[in-house]
Amino acid sequence: MIEGMVMAKILGIIGGGQLGMMITEAAKKMPEHISKVIVLDPTENCPASQVGAEQIMADFKDKNAIIDLANKSDIITYEIESGDSTVLKSVEKNAEINPSPETLRVIQDKFLQKSFLKENNIPVSEFIEIETIKDLENGLKDFGYPVLLKARRDAYDGRGNFKISSEKDVGKAFDYFKGQKLFLEKFIQFKMEVSVIASRNTKGQIKTYPLVENIHEENILRETIAPARVSREITKKAERIAERTMRVLRGAGIFGIEMFVTQNDEILINEIAPRVHNSGHHTLQSSKTSQFEQHLRAILGLDLGDTELIHPTIMYNILGDTSFEGKYLPLKISEENIFLKMYGKEISKPLRKLGHVNLVSKEGESIEQLLKKLESLKEKITIKPS
Ligand code: ATP
Ligand code: MG
Repeated sequence: MIEGMVMAKILGIIGGGQLGMMITEAAKKMPEHISKVIVLDPTENCPASQVGAEQIMADFKDKNAIIDLANKSDIITYEIESGDSTVLKSVEKNAEINPSPETLRVIQDKFLQKSFLKENNIPVSEFIEIETIKDLENGLKDFGYPVLLKARRDAYDGRGNFKISSEKDVGKAFDYFKGQKLFLEKFIQFKMEVSVIASRNTKGQIKTYPLVENIHEENILRETIAPARVSREITKKAERIAERTMRVLRGAGIFGIEMFVTQNDEILINEIAPRVHNSGHHTLQSSKTSQFEQHLRAILGLDLGDTELIHPTIMYNILGDTSFEGKYLPLKISEENIFLKMYGKEISKPLRKLGHVNLVSKEGESIEQLLKKLESLKEKITIKPS
């Protein structure tokens, strides 16, 4: 090897959905560092494979498939947090894995994650472990109503959460989870949900993107407003908490840190995702470095890119219509400063994430003006059966 020359690496990704797709697209723009992307995904023709990733078609938890991926890759990362951290740990000798399987193990169990944050004096809402219905009854005595009963693992889009509003929901909530490991959490009457996309590279350099505001519908992220419409103090506080979190968490890559702003303007961390995050999709147009490129820079040990927000931007998720499942009409938008990104999913399902649109403020438009523009755009980006 010529001195100073770096060999391009083969990148393996567990998961080839839209996040894997956008990581693959970023990888293709850095051929001097990444020569090939292989994704492990059970869905034929998964989004990442449509943009040039090679695919190993198997379940995310298929041990042999993970070993196969590790043998074929120099470096492994993931777009989902449900990978088997024990299996991943066992293949660490074959490929470098970032974030580390140990960090994944702690994060993917929300109870361990919250305990870890609490031990490190990072503010979270009150919570306790739940093993029996007796624990639940005791917890309710302490916390009062409402509370959230949550699955410790494998939850996404709010599917692992059950809100208990009164005594009559208790049995129903406990039965809903059928033997899954659980914990109970105080319900926060938040003013706003916000998040910070943070990154750390393998050398320990840390950079965070500016605070954004997240609006959920039916437990699914619907809209991200960058920057968040909060005071400078709240922004600073949230960004400081994100940085502190990054300093205690080990592992390289992007982390999506979801937070609540409480009625008293306190910041509580809701949860951390050890991967690129839906609330960071605005960075594709709003920042010099997208979160996908940043993730690659972080795991490759390159200097992290600029995270400044160049243009205020609104990201709106395009979700499957709740009233049908099946093929849908293609969407088209040809307006300046509006960027449509579809994920190549053939079938729409209720609330399935099919794409997103970024509305970028370029001529000094305010967030309020962008929100109006979004309203008039909604008809054009509604999913309809074909
Ligand atoms: P996602 O995949 O969308 O991040 P998830 O299944 O991991 O979701 P959470 O992030 O724990 O679940 O919760 C989903 C949403 O439920 C949150 O974004 C928030 O709106 C609401 N929520 C969660 N925990 C609380 C809480 N303690 N108090 C009030 N609302 C909450
Ligand atoms: Mg969440």
